[in-house]
Amino acid sequence: MPTGELLDRIRTAWIQRVSERLAQESGVRENFVTELDRFFLIWKEAIDRNNPDCLDELIQDWSDALTESDIDNQTSILIPIFDAIFQITIGVASELLNPSEAILVLADFSPIYTHAVEQASSIDLQRNVRRISAEVEKANLALEKLDRSKSDFIAVAAHELKTPLTLIEGYASMLKETLVEKMGISSINLYLKGIDSGSQRLREIVNDMIDVSLIDNNLLSLNWQPVWLNRILEVVDYEARRLMKDRTLDLLVNTIPGSEVMTYGDGERLLQAFRNLVANAVKYTPDGGRITIDGRSLPGFIEVTISDTGIGIDPENHTLIFEKFGGLGDVALHSSSKTRFKGGGPGLGLPITKGIIEAHGGAIWVASEGYDEVRLPGSTFHVLLPIRKECPDDKAAKLFHPLVEIVQRPM
Ligand code: ADP
Repeated sequence: MPTGELLDRIRTAWIQRVSERLAQESGVRENFVTELDRFFLIWKEAIDRNNPDCLDELIQDWSDALTESDIDNQTSILIPIFDAIFQITIGVASELLNPSEAILVLADFSPIYTHAVEQASSIDLQRNVRRISAEVEKANLALEKLDRSKSDFIAVAAHELKTPLTLIEGYASMLKETLVEKMGISSINLYLKGIDSGSQRLREIVNDMIDVSLIDNNLLSLNWQPVWLNRILEVVDYEARRLMKDRTLDLLVNTIPGSEVMTYGDGERLLQAFRNLVANAVKYTPDGGRITIDGRSLPGFIEVTISDTGIGIDPENHTLIFEKFGGLGDVALHSSSKTRFKGGGPGLGLPITKGIIEAHGGAIWVASEGYDEVRLPGSTFHVLLPIRKECPDDKAAKLFHPLVEIVQRPM
């Protein structure tokens, strides 16, 4: 007997059992009986055509109907339904048909069941991908919002701190003028120096906060001018030796081939960037260590490296440290000193440095085997800067072009 006729014999019992079981188990809607009728017809059609694809539309409709009210559900909804249908089909066929007829029905139903489960899994997968993407997007939006509030907070706090800081500096200087210079009370000098160095450090932090918020908002503008990297590194060398006066560190500044060539850049900002890198090398290298500034010339670029024999940086933090407040140190160490070993800081130096280098069209990255305060693997910061023969800023170009021509004229 053809399978179609066998199916007609089990149809009523099959629909009744499936609807009872599923209505009870998954609370599906009343019109499910109509849907089961539809399934049954397509089942027969699939057997006739020997193609289970005709089920796809029905599976999609069922999936849409079931997920409509339950979009957040992570578990599969359709697969348990097809499992139940398969079990009931085995039961009904073995009860109402003789064994060879039942085997025939089940043999024809198996590829349909497999196809249905495959389709359901693929729909589930797509649904889960959509759900996870929506969650990731939501989380990203929340993070962006948080980052924006952080950036806004930094900008507002920095500007709010500037006013009282200016007052402190002004009054300290008036005290100095009146008490020390006019009245000769020099004993107060020590306290005034304390106020002076404290407010100077605070001003540096406030300026860093302003810089970081400029970089965050893509507002960092460079004063393009002719610069010579070797000159900038000479200043870095000079300042670093003063900075390290209380520390026993060796500083080696090698001559970088190509650094004597004129390029366009913002000298003040580049100095700030290299100053930050050397200050960090000083801070994260214990006494007895060495800091080396070196580099090489590459086609169209110059690479500067700042290496130290310090505590190193875990590879998993090589990106994090360039993010604002990416400081990895203990909060208790923060701002204890600019030069003391592991002196800590607000964690703005590297994001600013990265912002400056990137504004020049360059790149910065760190290489370090890892963090180890005993073995001291050290870190090397690489700065890659393009050599610019043309000034990117038209106004500055007009200003500097005649000067550059004079400087570059052969003697
Ligand atoms: P901070 O103010 O904390 O020094 P930075 O942005 O300059 O902020 O540096 C971020 C973090 O990167 C530091 O807290 C430190 O953990 C790590 N770091 C930076 N430079 C070095 C270095 N040369 N050696 C080891 N760790 C470093």
